[in-house]
Amino acid sequence: MSSGEARHFGLRLALWYATLFVSGAIVVAALTYYVTATSLAQRDQQIIRSKLGEYATVYTRGGLRALADTVHAEQLTTPERLYVRVVDRGTEALVLSSREGWDPSTLETASLLLLDGTLVEVGKSIETRLDLLRRVRAALGLGTLAIVLIALTGGWLATDAAVEPIRRLTAAAGRIVRTGRTDERVPVEASADPDDAISELTRLFNAMLDRVEGLVTGMRGALDNVAHDLKTPLTRLRGTAEMALAAPADPERYREALADCVEEADRVLVMLDTLMDISEAESGAMPLQRKPVRLADVAARAIDLYRDVADAKDVTLASAATSDVEVSGDRVRLEQVAANLIDNAVKYTPAGGTVTVDVARDNGRALLRVRDTGVGIPTDEQARIWERLFRGDRSRAERGLGLGLSLVKAIVEAHGGTVSVDSATGQGSTFTVSLPGAESRTVARE
Ligand code: ADP
Repeated sequence: MSSGEARHFGLRLALWYATLFVSGAIVVAALTYYVTATSLAQRDQQIIRSKLGEYATVYTRGGLRALADTVHAEQLTTPERLYVRVVDRGTEALVLSSREGWDPSTLETASLLLLDGTLVEVGKSIETRLDLLRRVRAALGLGTLAIVLIALTGGWLATDAAVEPIRRLTAAAGRIVRTGRTDERVPVEASADPDDAISELTRLFNAMLDRVEGLVTGMRGALDNVAHDLKTPLTRLRGTAEMALAAPADPERYREALADCVEEADRVLVMLDTLMDISEAESGAMPLQRKPVRLADVAARAIDLYRDVADAKDVTLASAATSDVEVSGDRVRLEQVAANLIDNAVKYTPAGGTVTVDVARDNGRALLRVRDTGVGIPTDEQARIWERLFRGDRSRAERGLGLGLSLVKAIVEAHGGTVSVDSATGQGSTFTVSLPGAESRTVARE
C-alpha cells in the first residue's frame, strides 16, 4: 500500500463511518419528527373530540341558546378560537364562526350527529401545528447537516490520524524496496498505546527487519568467507597444474600433479557439500529418515571411525555409552554429529590426552557428550565456534574447514535438539548434544 493508497484507505474508512453515522442520525431525526407530528395531531384530535362532547351535552341540556352562550363565553376567554357549526336537520341553525375566516386547507374538523338529527361540528386550525412542524423540520434538517459535516471532518481527521502509522510503515517499506537498505526502522510513537494493533505491527515490522538484516549480513559474511576459502584450494590447484605444465613433459610429474589437483578439488567439493548440508538443515529442507536409534550405537560407530587416528596420536578414546537410550532420528546424520565432535576432540587433544564419549538420559532428554582433555576453547571464541567457516586462532595448524560445528548444530537443531559447549583453555572441552524424546528401550518394550 503506497502512502497515497493509505490516504485513500483512510478516506474510504472515514466515508464508511460517516455514512453509518449519518444514516443513524437520519433515522433518529425521522423518528423524532414522526413522533412529534403524530402526538401533536393526536392532541388536536383530542381537543376537538372533547369539545364536541362538551357542546353536545350543553346542546342536549339547554338547547341552542345555551350552546350559543357557552361558545361565546369560551371564545372570549380561550386564546385559541375554535370553529363551531350546528346544523339543525339540514338547516344551518347556528354558525358561530363563519367559514370565511378559516382556511379550509388548514382546518381539521369532527362532527357528531345528535339523536334529534342535529349535527354539531367543531373545527380547529392546524396552522400553528404546521408552523411548529416546519420549525422542527428545519431544526432537524440543520442538525442532520451539522452531524454530516462533523461526521465527515471528524471521521476524516480521526482515520487520517489512525492510518498515519500505517503510512509511515508503508513509506519505510517503500524506501527499503527502492534502496535495498535494511537498516531503516519505523519509530514507534511514544504517545501510542504499546498494546494497540498498529504499535504491535510496527514493532513486528522492525523485528522482522532486524532478522532480515541479521540474515543478510550473515549471508554476506558467509559468502565472503566461502569465496575466500574457495580461493585458497583453487589457487593451489591452479598453481600445481601450471607448474606441471611449465616443467618438461614427464608422465610421473603429471601423475603427481593430477593427484594433487584431485585432492584439492575433493577439498572444495567436501566444503561445498557441507555448506549445502548446513543450509539444508538450517532451512528445514534436509530430508531426515527418522527411526528409533540407539544413541550408544551411534557413538560406537563414530568411535570406531576414529579409533586408528586416536591411537596414532596417542590419545585414549574411551566410551562410557552404556546407557540404553533411544531417540527418533536419522541414524546417518546423528553419526555425522558424533563423528564431527569426536574428530574435533581428537584433533584438539595433544598426545597423552583422553577423549570420552558417553550417552545419558536427563529429564526425558537424550544426551550425547564428548569430553576431551585437550587445548580448550578461549571464552571469547566459544560463541563463535558455531559460525560457518570460523576457525579458532590456535587451530589453524590443524586440518579443517571451520564447518564441522556448524553442521553439528544445524543437524541437531533439525532434530529439535540443542548443542552446547563447556570449556576452559588448557583443561579441555565438553560438547553436549541434547535430543528430545529419550526413552529407554527396556522401558519401551515392557
Ligand atoms: P574446524 O575444526 O574445521 O576448524 P569446527 O567448526 O569443527 O571447525 O570448529 C570450529 C573451531 O572450534 C575450531 O577451529 C576450534 O578452534 C574450535 N574447537 C572445536 N572443537 C574443539 C575442541 N574439542 N577443543 C578445542 N577447540 C575446539
